[in-house]
Amino acid sequence: MKYYSTNGKAPMADLQKAVVKGLAEDRGLYMPEEIYKLPKAFFDDMAGMSFQDIAYNVASNFFGDDVDEDALQDIVYDTLSFDCPIVKVEDNIYSLELFHGPTLAFKDVGARFMARLLGYFLRNGRGETATHKTVNVLVATSGDTGSAVANGFLGVEGIHVYVLYPKGKVSPIQECQFTTLGKNITAIEVDGVFDDCQVLVKSAFMDEELNKHMKLTSANSINVARFLPQAFYYFNAVARLSALGHQTSDIVMCVPSGNFGNICAALFGHEMGLPISRFIAANNANDVFYEYLQTGQYNPRSSVQTLANAMDVGDPSNFARILNLYSENGALSPAESHERISSLISGATYSDEQISETMRQCYKETGYILDPHGACGYQALKDGLKPGEVGIFCETAHPAKFKEKVDAILGIDIEIPERLQAFMKGQKQSVPMSKDFADFKAYLMQQD
Ligand SMILES: *Cc1c(COP(=O)(O)O)cnc(C)c1O
Repeated sequence: MKYYSTNGKAPMADLQKAVVKGLAEDRGLYMPEEIYKLPKAFFDDMAGMSFQDIAYNVASNFFGDDVDEDALQDIVYDTLSFDCPIVKVEDNIYSLELFHGPTLAFKDVGARFMARLLGYFLRNGRGETATHKTVNVLVATSGDTGSAVANGFLGVEGIHVYVLYPKGKVSPIQECQFTTLGKNITAIEVDGVFDDCQVLVKSAFMDEELNKHMKLTSANSINVARFLPQAFYYFNAVARLSALGHQTSDIVMCVPSGNFGNICAALFGHEMGLPISRFIAANNANDVFYEYLQTGQYNPRSSVQTLANAMDVGDPSNFARILNLYSENGALSPAESHERISSLISGATYSDEQISETMRQCYKETGYILDPHGACGYQALKDGLKPGEVGIFCETAHPAKFKEKVDAILGIDIEIPERLQAFMKGQKQSVPMSKDFADFKAYLMQQD
């Protein structure tokens, strides 16, 4: 499979290059040249298949030409060492629980898959990546991404991960998930805010001397190896729903969205033939996509802080991918692609007050504990589901990841799962760093 750039000014890349580089030379996002429909027989059999087998079928549709069959199967099976079940919350509304992985959020799936695929290319790679040098992954985080990437890459040979996070600005529960791991994971505690961390990472990628000294790559959601595997659990969710006897013709998939990587994977699934009748992108107060759906105008702006902070994004990076997909790589006019997008996807946007109210109401009426992100998804279904439709919303993180907020809103003392407690017992190790690039560079020049 060849991958082109959404900006159209970079050469085509093979999968290996797309994964190792992340972003194309023209700073566009990589898109697969073809999205093949899965055969009818697969959809007929899906309800009786295991999650891992479903995922392997989806994975080979994209990666089958570029990765050895047995290796791909191992990568998929090893990635999905946990389930993503659907849980009935009330009549016609199901929660797709994406928080049963090591760091209790959906990013585990993409991070684990990418780590294994990158590991495979380092062992078997040709050309540029056929290097015996360590590949260094730099990731800036405000919490969730760092923990998923660090845990996904933990112990993968040939890769070292540097997680940059703002000192005192991530919750203690989040911090311990990437500062206690050791091995090939180094946490860097930056005296600054999240944006300073991001600037340090971007400056590092652009620094010629540093890039000569060490091989650097990124693991954010623009990487095809991180976002595409998220399609796996949408197929599984539809399979489980049909195994429960539901018609698969009226399924509405609702995805709480920030950078739009997760919903993008669902849309790719739809292109592969997954029977989902329509989508809802649920936003918090950061609602540029919602606004685009209403007006056809896309006006990125700075993000505002909300209760659902992993969705505090003012310029979603995967918007370019969605636009490219539905404009047939620029063949359709902006008005035509807006028409296609807004007839398939509707939007919703919720204030912090509404999020809290939804969490309280859902808990009182159903006993189900929502996290602030999932709450946006649940409420969007409550508000938008039509008679005869069945809705699935993604519960993108375990509510205990946001214990302080959830406890305060619901007046409960939510239990912290054992996996999280295990992190909290570990010894915190981090490298203090100023927000000056010169300091960060000097530090990296001493590593190899
Ligand atoms: C990352 C994240 C989101 C947003 O997902 P995108 O793929 O960026 O749209 C939503 N909820 C949680 C808990 C997250 O960590």
